[in-house]
Amino acid sequence: MTPATIDLDEAQRHVWDAIVVGAGPAGALAARRFALAGVNVLLVDKKAFPRAKVCGSCVNRRALAVLNDEGLGTLVDRIGGIALEHFHLGVRGCSIHRHALLGKAISRTRFDNALVEAAIAAGARFLAETHATIEVCDNTTRGVRLERHGRTIHARARVVAAASGLGNAALEGEPSIRTRIAARSRIGAGRVVDAGSSAYNDKTIHMAIGRHGYVGLVRVEDGSLNVAAAFDKAFIKACESSARAAAAILREAGFPAIQSDDDGSWRGTVALSRSTRPVAARRLIILGDAAGYIEPFTGEGIGWALSSASAGVPIALEGIERWTSAIEREWIETHRLLIGRSTLVCRGLAFTLRRPRLAGLVAKLAERTPAIADMIIRRINASPTVCPQISN
Ligand SMILES: Cc1cc2nc3c(=O)[nH]c(=O)nc-3n(C[C@H](O)[C@H](O)[C@H](O)COP(=O)(O)OP(=O)(O)OC[C@H]3O[C@@H](n4cnc5c(N)ncnc54)[C@H](O)[C@@H]3O)c2cc1C
Repeated sequence: MTPATIDLDEAQRHVWDAIVVGAGPAGALAARRFALAGVNVLLVDKKAFPRAKVCGSCVNRRALAVLNDEGLGTLVDRIGGIALEHFHLGVRGCSIHRHALLGKAISRTRFDNALVEAAIAAGARFLAETHATIEVCDNTTRGVRLERHGRTIHARARVVAAASGLGNAALEGEPSIRTRIAARSRIGAGRVVDAGSSAYNDKTIHMAIGRHGYVGLVRVEDGSLNVAAAFDKAFIKACESSARAAAAILREAGFPAIQSDDDGSWRGTVALSRSTRPVAARRLIILGDAAGYIEPFTGEGIGWALSSASAGVPIALEGIERWTSAIEREWIETHRLLIGRSTLVCRGLAFTLRRPRLAGLVAKLAERTPAIADMIIRRINASPTVCPQISN
């Protein structure tokens, strides 16, 4: 277990250079970058670490490239990441198999904990099991309310990075920032199946697509099967459980059932498709999913989260001495160029997947013209390395 490295009293005693709210990939990498820049930084998460997170557990090549640039190129291998070399898609009677270098599979429990440990090793202080709410800003600092085990304190920092993921309750204290949730947003769900179940090969991303959602399955470092899904809200309601919704989609795609699937082992998320704007305010920048998310189909969220931390911290560092509105504009524009543009493929696929006939047509085309499947995979991974087709 990664223990807190500081208590509430000490957190209140300092004026921090930076407080980072949320210790997922965006927050942990941001805290590490702040620490490596020599500023004093507090990383806060509401959960005890290590913690699980609903996710497909695929760290794509873009994410691996950011880790490499940050000097963490060996992290995923060191903690047991499994190279993903095959892609298996089932949709409307089509079964597409491609051989491609797709990144690494690693459980989020282990991956996120390793990033937090890297941040602590760089000098960040870590406060787990602490709920943070970002408060108003005065001339020189921004407040952050911290609640831990029934006690509340008010900490202050020259810069705050909000990396609190989809829920965004942390941002409720900043009135200039609003989150818009897409009307037809899907919701996420996931579970882990014991290593014993053998129907799904390792080193492979299995993706089952149905009319009302999709289910992705990969084996992670201990051999267990990580299952992650996005469902239409009405479909879950009609199925009465995530387990039944997933079973229906796997059947529709012609995939084997998951062994011993009971609903109690599924965890759900809030609505997925959302956008939070603006992504900066006085002495505040927003990173990762907290700034918005589309859908998990393309498995890019970790890459976006890491990229935003890597690009956002150097900008925030400028504001520690003296914050100006130019810093806010710089992060808003950088975020638009960095993340906004790279979400186009994901948006296009999300649009297609909601139209069963169109999805069927694209699948048929990809089944017959492997170059199309490869083009999509390549675009998602931001990588030119897709190997020739091995089966169809
Ligand atoms: C079903 C599904 C499958 C996915 N599959 C993939 C995939 O295969 N590959 C991929 O790259 N991406 C995938 N994603 C997306 C990926 O999970 C996210 O994009 C990524 O986790 C974003 O990282 P983050 O650091 O922004 O937020 P998170 O990882 O959500 O971390 C946010 C952290 O903030 C903490 N927090 C929240 N509120 C507070 C508060 N008020 N105070 C203190 N702490 C707080 C939370 O406890 C959490 O630890 C998937 C998502 C879903 C839903």
